Amino acid sequence: MRTEIMGVGFDDLTLDEAAKRAAGMIEEGGFHYVVTPNPELVDRARREEPFRQALNGADLVLPDGIGVVYAAKILGRPLKGRCPGIDFAGKLMEHMARSGLRLYLLGAKPGVAETAAARLEAGYPGLTICGTHDGYFQEDEAVVEDIRAAGADVVFVCLGAPKQEYWMVKNGPATGARLMAGLGGSLDVFAGVVERAPEGWQKLGLEWLYRLIREPSRIGRMARLPLFLVSAFGARGKGEKGT
Ligand code: UDP
Repeated sequence: MRTEIMGVGFDDLTLDEAAKRAAGMIEEGGFHYVVTPNPELVDRARREEPFRQALNGADLVLPDGIGVVYAAKILGRPLKGRCPGIDFAGKLMEHMARSGLRLYLLGAKPGVAETAAARLEAGYPGLTICGTHDGYFQEDEAVVEDIRAAGADVVFVCLGAPKQEYWMVKNGPATGARLMAGLGGSLDVFAGVVERAPEGWQKLGLEWLYRLIREPSRIGRMARLPLFLVSAFGARGKGEKGT
């Protein structure tokens, strides 16, 4: 049973539960993919039906931003909490390091994935990064083949939204990987190119504000957040299910 927030069905899980589910999917075999929508993406899904389908078609849909958690509360369907993609990735890597699973990093500017790989292998002893590729390629086929040849079990797809979600749906099954997760700018953070908000800010649900101060050009994108919450109030007022 998923919790529906403005047309997107979220899995109501703690981080540990989400990582456990993902581990189960890897073990089960076949192809699975994970999405971590923030309010900006939920809002986009309301306007772009194929994107909504790409989100709802995922095997795990995790609430990345505090705005989704607020909207859920407003709609009277509270979620357990935020499940940021980058934290989910951390939990999953702990599991992968213990289980000898192979991780492939796809996305970001040339050189970033390699730096991220070195830092992650140092940070998660036992973790195997079996390959990397930057996110600025023209042909999908060569990348699909590289992931397949690397024998990847899991791929972090960090191409930004909605590119990464569409990419996973279209190309995921052909790569032979068992799990893909669309993780936006996470490789930049893992590589140390972009700094994440200090924990205090994260706990207060103010990671978005920290990011805005560091990257003021995001204001246009973030300005939609209050509108998103207003829509949630509107949906509640009309007794709708948020769709
Ligand atoms: N990116 C990419 N290929 C593209 C466009 C973007 O690899 O064609 C990368 C970009 O370099 C960045 C990430 O995707 O590392 C998107 O980051 P952003 O912070 O915009 O994503 P968010 O986390 O907000 O979804």
